[in-house]
Amino acid sequence: MPAQRFGARNSEVVCTAEQFDLVIIGGGPGGYGAALYGASAGMNVALVERDALGGTCLNRGCIPAKAFLETAAVNRHVAHAADFGINTSSPSVDFAVTQARKRKIVDGLVKGIETHYVGAAEKNGAG
Ligand SMILES: Cc1cc2nc3c(=O)[nH]c(=O)nc-3n(C[C@H](O)[C@H](O)[C@H](O)COP(=O)(O)OP(=O)(O)OC[C@H]3O[C@@H](n4cnc5c(N)ncnc54)[C@H](O)[C@@H]3O)c2cc1C
Repeated sequence: MPAQRFGARNSEVVCTAEQFDLVIIGGGPGGYGAALYGASAGMNVALVERDALGGTCLNRGCIPAKAFLETAAVNRHVAHAADFGINTSSPSVDFAVTQARKRKIVDGLVKGIETHYVGAAEKNGAG
């Protein structure tokens, strides 16, 4: 299809040969959820993400917070182990290991979304 311009006010918007039923800006939970719903309904979907797929929740919010909270919980359990009759030396936190564990969890989840999303795109012949 030849390029088309959408009126003077939006002259920077150019319709290319690639047409989409749905274009989503932002690859957070809202964006990737909508993209997967759209793709599963047979729509040709474009998802635009300027940073990291998964958005705040996966990369900086919910998931990292839960990973760090789990570290704090383990630390608390070990610190109070003697109350349960278990003798240990007092725990210390290795933040490099804590960060690496968080990174591994986040990377696994982001990869899962990528795989799911690419799979849905390929199913619709857009891969
Ligand atoms: C510390 C913390 C802990 C949290 N814990 C929880 C929790 O336990 N449970 C819970 O339900 N919620 C939690 N949240 C809230 C949760 O992260 C948000 O509700 C969720 O991320 C919102 O999803 P979203 O897709 O609307 O936006 P976001 O996740 O913010 O995604 C928006 C995406 O859009 C992209 N973007 C923005 N502008 C553009 C642009 N112009 N072009 C291209 N891309 C763009 C951004 O890069 C980003 O990736 C937490 C948040 C924080 C900060």
